Parts: sequence; C-alpha cells; structure tokens
Amino acid sequence: MSTSADYYEILGVARDANGDEVKRAYRRLAIKWHPDQNPGNDEAEVRFKECAEAYEVLSDPEKRSVYDRHGHAGLRGRAGHDFNSMHVEDIFSMFNDIFGGQGGGGGRRQRGPARGYDLETEVEITLVEVLEGCEREIPFKRLEVCSPCKGSGAKPGSKPTECTTCGGQGQVAQNGLGGLFRMVTTCPTCQGRRQIIKDKCSECSGAGRTSVQRKLSVKIPRGISDGQVVRVAGEGEPPPPQMSPDGTGVRGDLHIVVRVAEDERFERQQSDLITALEVSFADAALGGTVTVETLEGRSETEIDPGTQHGELFRLDGKGVPDLRTGQRGDLVVVVHVVVPRKLTAKQKELIAALRDTERPAPPAAKDSRKDGSKGAKQDDSAKKRVGFWGKMKDSLGN
Ligand SMILES: [Zn+2]
Ligand SMILES: [Zn+2]
Repeated sequence: MSTSADYYEILGVARDANGDEVKRAYRRLAIKWHPDQNPGNDEAEVRFKECAEAYEVLSDPEKRSVYDRHGHAGLRGRAGHDFNSMHVEDIFSMFNDIFGGQGGGGGRRQRGPARGYDLETEVEITLVEVLEGCEREIPFKRLEVCSPCKGSGAKPGSKPTECTTCGGQGQVAQNGLGGLFRMVTTCPTCQGRRQIIKDKCSECSGAGRTSVQRKLSVKIPRGISDGQVVRVAGEGEPPPPQMSPDGTGVRGDLHIVVRVAEDERFERQQSDLITALEVSFADAALGGTVTVETLEGRSETEIDPGTQHGELFRLDGKGVPDLRTGQRGDLVVVVHVVVPRKLTAKQKELIAALRDTERPAPPAAKDSRKDGSKGAKQDDSAKKRVGFWGKMKDSLGN
C-alpha cells in the first residue's frame, strides 16, 4: 500500500521547490536509504520506497498539481508504480537518469524473461456494491512500446549504434558516487541500453516508450473489504527498454486497491454489519413492528415488549458476503431508545399519568416510609400507594 505521509515532507523540500530541487532531494535520500547502505535496517527499504513514490508524484507536473490541491485523495484512481512490490534495483533503474546512470540500473540480473513493472491504482465502491460485486471501468496510464520506433528510440529508418563506452554490455565496473557503490554499474553513456541513439524518434524522444491512456473493465468480487487488492495479471508495463527494447517478455500486473466508501448507516465487522435503530419509548415498552435499514432497503421486523436501550438483535443473513465462501453475515441491530425532546400537551399528560403509576407516593402521604430498602414486597406496596394517589388526584379533578 502506498504511503499516507506528506510527499514534500518525505523529500524534505518546500512546497514551492522546483523540479531540480525535487530531483536533488530525491537523489540524496535514495542514496541515503538504499538498502545496500543500510544492512540490517528494515526501515531503510521502506523509506527508500516512500521516497520513490514521493518523487514519482512531485516530478510529474500534472500529478503534483493534483496532489497540491487535493492531497493523497486526489491521486486515488491515478495509476502509479507499486513500489512496495518492486525490487530496489528496479526502482533505481526506473529513475536511472537522475543517478547519472550510476545507480545499478539494468544491472539486476533477470532470471527468466524480462518482466515489466507493476502498476497500482485505486477504485472506490459502495457497501451496497460489496453485496453483489460490481464491474468498474478503470482508467490508467501506462508506458507502452513506442510504435514508430518499435521501442528502439531511434528515428524510423535509422538504427541505434552500439555504445562504445560499455562495448554494448550496458554495464561498466566502477566505483560510483564517490565509492559508495562498489559494483558493476549501468553504463553512464547508454544508461544500460547497450546502444546509442543519434537520431531520436520524434514520438518518444528516444525513450522507446510512450505513456498511453488505457481503460479496463474490471470485475470486483462480492464480499471484498476496504484495502484489498484486485490483481489483473499482465496489465502493467512492458519490460523497460534497458531490459528489452522491443518489449518482449512479460508485462507487469495492475493492482487495484479497492476502497469501500463509508456508509453512515452501517459499520462493518468482517461479514457482519452493525446498525443503530431508533425506537420510541412506547414501542420499546410495548413491543411492536419497527422498520430496519438493510443493504437491500427497508425491512420490517418485530421487537419484544420491554426491549431495552442498547439491546441487540440479529437479522440473519442480512450482512455482507464472505469473500471466499460467499456466505452472508448478519445485520446486528443496536436499539437506541429515544426520549422525546418535545411533547404535545396530550403526550405530556399521558406520560405524567404514566409517571404517577411508577413513582412511590410523596413523603406527605399517610403511610410513606423511609427509603433505602428495596424488594418485591415493597414495590407492590408502592404500586398500591400510587394507586391511592392516583385516585385522590382523580377525585380532585386534577
Ligand atoms: Zn553503454
Ligand atoms: Zn519512438
């Protein structure tokens, strides 16, 4: 999952920092947090990837302006690289140009065919959609092999020539960055691509890749939870040009992080839903038919006489489905007995009469006792006394 920290803070730059300042800050931090520099420090890799994510956004004017206006939420639904699932060397390689080709770039030896990077984007669905599952159009941008040059980066009709610095190896042995990296590094001249392009393709400016907007219809399974990921195999990027200029190899995957929007009516606990039900005092006391909000609309149900505030009851099978079994949980209803804030004259009178039936007789009554003792027997006598007072009031026309 991507970070929730502020991108400017991650890179330690001002909000009005220009492109060069952002680039310098990223370069410095990427070297600082490179896992090779921090053996045994698990946090380093996390920080390293966080910096890459921040740089990807802040170095892209369009993404940066969206981020400035709407923060992380604004970038939801915009695909970026899934740095968490990427190898550190691939991240270094991705921003190869800013490390002057000294980052180790194409140096990671691939086992098996070249593989492109994974992309990550987000989609928001409602709790109601969780019930049945849904299908969504997912728009995202990804790099594609440039078609005029077929990924070579050379102007159609011209051909790239073998890089003389590395002799077409894509790598040179050197001590990069003042000796910080003692390793075989990406060739600084050809950036690991083994070739030099003299006449650049005008479509991709020699990159061999162009950014293409794509739309994909994706099924989101019923029962999915907030934060779970739908993985669409093969919808990520083609292998990067330094690994495979014409894109031959395996595409990365597209990861869609599903966000389930809050539904103010329900709280979800696994496959159960919890909802509050307001019940009038009279309904709680007498029992009766009440209307409960369910995911499928309103449903009538009975409550028992004497239902208490805070009491729970369950509507079986009215929760959300379990992602694996498909079996639905329950709707747990929490009763909130509502005390009326305003009463009509009639209601006041009725409730006052009710109170008279509940209260012990006032101290002035003839056979009143000191309180402090409780018990069934005394409750009975209290009822009798109230009865007496009730009668007395009636006789006084009160
Ligand atoms: Zn070279
Ligand atoms: Zn091209």
